[in-house]
Amino acid sequence: MVKDNNCLFCKIIANEIPSKKVYEDESVYAFHDINPAAPIHIIIIPKPHIESVNSVSNSNSKYLSKIFEVIPVIVETMKIKERGYRVITNIGEEGGQTINHLHFHIIGGKKLDTKIIND
Ligand code: AMP
Ligand code: ZN
Repeated sequence: MVKDNNCLFCKIIANEIPSKKVYEDESVYAFHDINPAAPIHIIIIPKPHIESVNSVSNSNSKYLSKIFEVIPVIVETMKIKERGYRVITNIGEEGGQTINHLHFHIIGGKKLDTKIIND
């Protein structure tokens, strides 16, 4: 498993930094965001260090399918599957990415603004 020793999310996966885990298997890890933007705010990440969507290729896209297989399971557990929720990934500086380990925000638990971006 590729690990970047300077990456916060790699450290969370390695249990070097604590997190509130909601799901884990051999290829993905999900945990509560430390600074939630809504009543439910979960981060789901691939276990290997992949920087962002920009680094997705044929060699690692299986982690993306896995993430999107797991999202319906997590939202069911969180009881927001039928109510609705939002999945977001930020890419690069102008995209608002602050942690350079590919991650998807699962946000819900309230009626979200219909405007997707707030800039
Ligand atoms: P982004 O801005 O898309 O890179 O999102 C990074 C997210 O990681 C933000 O929503 C932060 O609140 C969240 N975050 C940062 N540090 C931690 C941490 N130690 N545990 C859980 N979430 C974190
Ligand atoms: Zn990482």
